Amino acid sequence: MAKAITPRETNYSEWYLDIVKKANLASNSAVRGCMVIKPYGFGIWELMQRQLDDMFKETGHVNAYFPLFIPKSFLSKEAAHVEGFAKECAVVTHYRLKNAEDGSGVIVDPEAKLEEELIVRPTSETIIWSTYRDWITSYRDLPLLINQWANVVRWELRTRLFLRTAEFLWQEGHTAHATAEEALEEALKMQGVYADFAEQYMAMPVLRGVKTANERFAGALDTYTIEALMQDGKALQAGTSHNLGQNFAKAFDVKFSNAENQEEYVWASSWGVSTRLVGGLIMTHSDDEGLVLPPKLAPIQVVIVPIPKPNETLTAKAKEIMAELKARGIRVSYDDDDKQRPGFKFAENELKGIPVRLGLGNRDLENGTIEVARRDEKTKESKPLEGIVDYVTRLLDEIQQNLFDRALRFREEHTTYVDTFEEFQEVIDRDIPGFIYAHWDGTTETELKIKELTKATIRCIPQDQPEEAGQCVLTGKPSRGRVVFAKAY
Ligand code: AMP
Repeated sequence: MAKAITPRETNYSEWYLDIVKKANLASNSAVRGCMVIKPYGFGIWELMQRQLDDMFKETGHVNAYFPLFIPKSFLSKEAAHVEGFAKECAVVTHYRLKNAEDGSGVIVDPEAKLEEELIVRPTSETIIWSTYRDWITSYRDLPLLINQWANVVRWELRTRLFLRTAEFLWQEGHTAHATAEEALEEALKMQGVYADFAEQYMAMPVLRGVKTANERFAGALDTYTIEALMQDGKALQAGTSHNLGQNFAKAFDVKFSNAENQEEYVWASSWGVSTRLVGGLIMTHSDDEGLVLPPKLAPIQVVIVPIPKPNETLTAKAKEIMAELKARGIRVSYDDDDKQRPGFKFAENELKGIPVRLGLGNRDLENGTIEVARRDEKTKESKPLEGIVDYVTRLLDEIQQNLFDRALRFREEHTTYVDTFEEFQEVIDRDIPGFIYAHWDGTTETELKIKELTKATIRCIPQDQPEEAGQCVLTGKPSRGRVVFAKAY
């Protein structure tokens, strides 16, 4: 038998990798830091994409596609931007290979050097704003609400499947507006779309907040984030939305004439979520038996297992139930492999996180019943076959809600308010530290000092909390409100 999944308590990080590998979600590749997303893992990403894309369209955005390469000079046009990304760029310097004269193999042809080196996009603000210069001349061209689905490369040194990879898949929205207010409104609106997606589809509760100057996107005025808490008590930045002000319009000279016929620089926002969300989904809900998926993002929502093995009567009944479930838009499959025993199949289906399993046996059929097992609570009960489709439909909704409630309860149980640095240290050193609400004096210096002492970073300055005067947990200097600290991925 294959090695069991490492329990979370023994080694959380091994547990995560075991699930990714054993549930066939992704694997490492021949290229350091780059992953192969396997069909089952890609199935989850596709469901995420489909839903997010609908939500972007619903809020007025359209998709377009821009080049993978960015001329090096473009990246340098916005000073903070290049500063932020320079350390993790992949650079293309040549465009041809040739056979080595000494027969040792293929080498880069030194004569095929590019006149201007190209960066593999780490994000696309520069190439997109260089294009917007041609697209925008008047206020009538605004707002421009564009999204791109793409891959990007950031040469990360510490990587982990899905959560942080050197190449990742994402979407990046890039919008252009006539006023500062509109750009800010857009950045906040998309943070809201991300929060709704995380909570309603991923069943993953998130905090909404603003990043500190130290953590904000390179080139932004402000970065709005959604932060989730994983089961090991570490935070995951799940999505970010940036108010870019006029920084990129100035760097690429993108102006428009307003209704009074005066020229002005255009206002911008950008926002992105990535395949990291798949990692967040796994870490939020899964257990020591394997993956646990919220029904809305499960590639297979219901599996029917014939017991002890398929026969004509069972298969006919299973097909009938499947047809009815499919008619309701439920993703269902029939596990009719007759080489494996039910016990093995149950474990496999659990490992894959399929929310509902229906066990159909000859005796059940005679009695007019069916066994219903739910993955989230690992319970099973016998239910009448009559009305089973209605029951399963409701059960999927119940599981979706239960997973959210469970994750929210976990977050509440691992959220602590502290007023002294001793308390701060005690909480951050716990096995599952969680979110810490503490006062901070607002300086980068203090933020970095706390990070150095505890490894905790400021995840965000919460948006939905009243101002509350207090004293910084480290320096005792005045603070206008609590911020959220955590160790993070
Ligand atoms: P950014 O453009 O830096 O704001 O990134 C947008 C989003 O992409 C972040 O909020 C993360 O969720 C995600 N992300 C950033 N870096 C990585 C990475 N190396 N691997 C996977 N996802 C990433």
